[in-house]
Amino acid sequence: MAKEKKFVEAITSMDEDFAQWYTDIVKKAELADYSGVRGCMVIRPYGYAIWENIQRELDRMFKETGHENVYMPMFIPESLLNKEKEHVEGFAPEVAWVTHGGSEELTERLCVRPTSETLFCDHWSKTVQSYNDLPKLYNQWCSVVRWEKTTRPFLRTAEFLWQEGHTIHATEKEAEEETVRMLNVYATLAEEFLAIPVVKGQKTDKEKFAGASATYTIEALMHDGKALQAGTSHNFGDNFAKAFDIQFTDKDGKLKYVYETSWGMSTRIMGAIIMVHGDDSGLVLPPKVAPIQVVIIPISQHVEGVVGKANEIKDRISKIARVKMDTSDKMPGWKFNEYEMKGVPVRLEIGPKDIEKNQVVLVRRDTREKTFVSLDEIETKLPELLEDIQKSLYDKAKSVREEKTYKAADIEELKELAENKPGFIKAMWCGDRECEDKIKEVAGTTSRCMPFEQEKVSDTCVCCGKKAEKMVYWGKAY
Ligand code: AMP
Ligand code: ZN
Repeated sequence: MAKEKKFVEAITSMDEDFAQWYTDIVKKAELADYSGVRGCMVIRPYGYAIWENIQRELDRMFKETGHENVYMPMFIPESLLNKEKEHVEGFAPEVAWVTHGGSEELTERLCVRPTSETLFCDHWSKTVQSYNDLPKLYNQWCSVVRWEKTTRPFLRTAEFLWQEGHTIHATEKEAEEETVRMLNVYATLAEEFLAIPVVKGQKTDKEKFAGASATYTIEALMHDGKALQAGTSHNFGDNFAKAFDIQFTDKDGKLKYVYETSWGMSTRIMGAIIMVHGDDSGLVLPPKVAPIQVVIIPISQHVEGVVGKANEIKDRISKIARVKMDTSDKMPGWKFNEYEMKGVPVRLEIGPKDIEKNQVVLVRRDTREKTFVSLDEIETKLPELLEDIQKSLYDKAKSVREEKTYKAADIEELKELAENKPGFIKAMWCGDRECEDKIKEVAGTTSRCMPFEQEKVSDTCVCCGKKAEKMVYWGKAY
């Protein structure tokens, strides 16, 4: 018993120190570890298994929407990176350079890709000729490097895993449709797979991607009231096409520039899972993304027949869920804590008394509610329970977000909220960059997005008092 207690105590309470609580979960749930390289992490098997589930689901949705996977080099020649002015200015401060091959200095420096627009454009400028070649709907799974000043596991790392979608189209309309379609794919993944409610919207010019004409985003609210940009989709118009000279002969015989998009979601989303669903006992995983959905823990496993029965149940359940059985010689209580820390949605206990009664005990991770289920009903009750957990996690996250979403009519009110009530603040904005800068300066909040679902919070800009039409979500962000 003493030992079990120690295991639990080892994690900091989220109310006491949220940042430390987060770090504790990353380490104790064995998701990731620090590496010898500043800002780079080791993603451990359990963490990687979660990422693989996200990958699989995203990849399925990408293919369903007509995309193909490709692979580009990890290096970008300096001259190529420099071709689109805004893009290079945006990324230059975060770029890592390769200057030598062995001991020989390179004639041209190579940057380690921070994102691959330039590589895709270079390729298309050589391969696209006619409207018959369009659209190109590509995606790449890879890692990228951005030399971030401050880093935290998953949320902001110097090297991170992601997918980057890159597409080109014959018309502006098609490109815009693609940008929104892929934002919707991200929103579906977040809400339906990860049980994370998101706000869909457009970034302001200040916050948009370097080189884009429009950036769309999904923004999620973490348990501590801070926002997290969970996925972005960019419409480049013909900016890159002009910089890289990507032209095609259209049906009318005229030479035209293509319209381009890109969109990305990274391992940052793993941080959102932790910070939206986790509690003081550790990680809480929505069943759909959980590498282990059910852990079977035999009770009094030395008693004859217990492990045999548990195995029998495991075989049955593995047809309907991802299941693991733990027959190690650790105390059951210790095991309970361990799988709670790992966020396994359901624990199934089976002991001699249960066998007598032809039942098992199911304990759900989110509420710790215990139910006794007849062995005859396990195939129907277990999927119901998993579904219910998935749904309750979403509902709970949504009500937390609603509780922490406020409205402000003037700058004093906004500042007051930002200082005392961490969360999203809805407020009107006139569209001027000066007001956006001032709000950051006064309240420490950035514009998270101009939501697609608009609402009139007041008639005037929260900052300058001029007439304002746009409602913006403001907040402090990771
Ligand atoms: P971007 O290319 O800047 O639009 O970013 C694409 C996706 O990667 C967004 O969902 C970002 O939130 C995420 N992202 C950006 N920088 C990092 C980083 N340093 N570590 C992890 N994820 C990141
Ligand atoms: Zn204003």
